[in-house]
Amino acid sequence: MSISTHPTAVENFRQVLTRVWKSFAPPPDILVSDWARRNRVLGKGTTARPGPFRPEKFQVEMMDVITDPNVHEIVIMKSTQVGYSDAVLNNIIGYYIDLDPKPIMMVQPTIDNAKDYGKKRITPMIESTPALQAKIRTATSRRSGNTLALKEFPGGFLKLTGANSGAGLRSDPVPVVLLDEIDEYPLDVDGQGDPLEIASRRTDQFPDFKIVKGSTPAKPKGLSRIEKGFLESDQRRFHVPCPLCGMMQPLAWRDPESKVYRLVYTLDAGGEVLPETVGYRCAGCNGTISERYKQQMLDAGQWIAKFPGRVVAGFHLNALYSPWREIWADLAKEWVAAQRDNERLKAFINLRLGETWEEQGFSLEPHHLRARVEKYPAEIPNGVGLLTAAVDVQDDRLELVVKGWGAGEESWLIAGEQFFGDPGREDVWMQADEFLRNEFTHVSGRKLPIAAVMVDSGGHHTDSVYRFVKVRQSRRVFALRGSSEAGKEILGKFSFNNQYRVKLFTVGVDTAKDRIFSRLQIPAPGAGYIHLPDWTEDEYLAQLTSEKRITRYKRGKGMVREYVKTRTRNEALDLEVYSLAALYALGPMAVRRLKEFAEEANEAPDPEEVSETKKASPDPRGSAQRGSSSWVNRWKD
Ligand SMILES: [Zn+2]
Repeated sequence: MSISTHPTAVENFRQVLTRVWKSFAPPPDILVSDWARRNRVLGKGTTARPGPFRPEKFQVEMMDVITDPNVHEIVIMKSTQVGYSDAVLNNIIGYYIDLDPKPIMMVQPTIDNAKDYGKKRITPMIESTPALQAKIRTATSRRSGNTLALKEFPGGFLKLTGANSGAGLRSDPVPVVLLDEIDEYPLDVDGQGDPLEIASRRTDQFPDFKIVKGSTPAKPKGLSRIEKGFLESDQRRFHVPCPLCGMMQPLAWRDPESKVYRLVYTLDAGGEVLPETVGYRCAGCNGTISERYKQQMLDAGQWIAKFPGRVVAGFHLNALYSPWREIWADLAKEWVAAQRDNERLKAFINLRLGETWEEQGFSLEPHHLRARVEKYPAEIPNGVGLLTAAVDVQDDRLELVVKGWGAGEESWLIAGEQFFGDPGREDVWMQADEFLRNEFTHVSGRKLPIAAVMVDSGGHHTDSVYRFVKVRQSRRVFALRGSSEAGKEILGKFSFNNQYRVKLFTVGVDTAKDRIFSRLQIPAPGAGYIHLPDWTEDEYLAQLTSEKRITRYKRGKGMVREYVKTRTRNEALDLEVYSLAALYALGPMAVRRLKEFAEEANEAPDPEEVSETKKASPDPRGSAQRGSSSWVNRWKD
């Protein structure tokens, strides 16, 4: 018996096959950049170069890679001014609408950003590009299927939504997802999880899916999603030939290995960049390349991947590649101006270099501090106007430091002492008290007492601390309790809410550490600078740098910044915090008059005062006498 097939069945099968074929039809054999050259017209008022679109060479591969059947994910980490949105993203969108229609979702950080993108970038593209105009009805009423957030066309739609909208991200399955400015996405949307994940999930049922992630970095190193994405990609960089020696190289602000700065310039006597001296130092011949060769270099460049086997295609671009106009001198000027301003430097690194910023404190190392210890000419050098002390209570000892303060809260470490013993017992406190009654000798010959003392009550010996300060509050010896709550002021209000009814100050520890870390990075003496004497021990320097600030996500709290210990001991840092609190406990008037106090301290003492002090105390460190010069009491309470 043979199997025969009914002719109708054969015909049915043929029809099914045809349909299947059609749905698997490969996309047209034309690249995104070709489509853009043939069809895109840039409208007046939307671009610096209106007229037929002509891509930069570096933009070509960034858009064409999307039609590579082997590539499903593309990561673009970039600076501003490299034509990403208008050239790369919009051409991809236009290509799909015109030649390979399908549902597309574009995600901006917020719904407002998405509407804005629709209005300022998509609508003008459609209006100035006849091929797109023919496919999308121009009316902007909701019924026409064309709103700021939704563009319908035969065979698909473009939906614009925000990473802050769980509902918007969840709606439709789409084969193409364009995720823009991902470093600005929230880490969690509506308690439903990571918007980047939710959006990417939309493509799950499409084997030929495409996900494009693009962003200028906006998060610190280690927390930036665009940087993480780029590092996991094949890491393509655009190599351009040196016009002097021909060597192909990526344009880098700073060489990652040698740390050599590649953009060179000369400053005039006033510290301003001389524009005619600005150039790019070739990594091959070390010659200086003038920016007038930039365009020809860009035209002859090519993308080279560091890890060619990886599945994700990654691109990195900085503003040195910025086409159309000369920009290097502006970059040099911006860089020079940003050197003394962390916020501007951060903006430069993110926006111009397309790189991430290392959080303050991350790079602070003990040897950086060792390099700047100095020899004081006396116990107290010129500049100091008053002294404070801080006491840290450990289980087996008390640690104390004395700090001097001058104009602009410039500060000097004046003395450090440890008293060993059980802080639950009286004797170790008596030793501390004797030390705190010391006067210290200014280079002028004057003697300065300690104006205020802060004692930490947070450890295991709270009662002992309260007992100690109770009878010494009139000498401005105060108890404190640390709070690591974000944004807490350094010296908060005090309460008497404790069994000894002592003044208990709340100290915003993290806020104080922010200030201390940024001050430790001030390169030269002046306001805020922290002076360290040559007798400072390595251990103390290590402890000063014993914590780093991290930013992390906490469920229910969002992004939080917190300090984590990188060493087990950190008393020195705590003592700096308490010292700052002790200064502020003297009141804003005292802080404002630090310069005046410093000037007075530097005047030669009157002879009587000196001789009196001498009689009473030949060795100020060993003495318990409390006399204080007249001026230091003026701002009292
Ligand atoms: Zn060269």
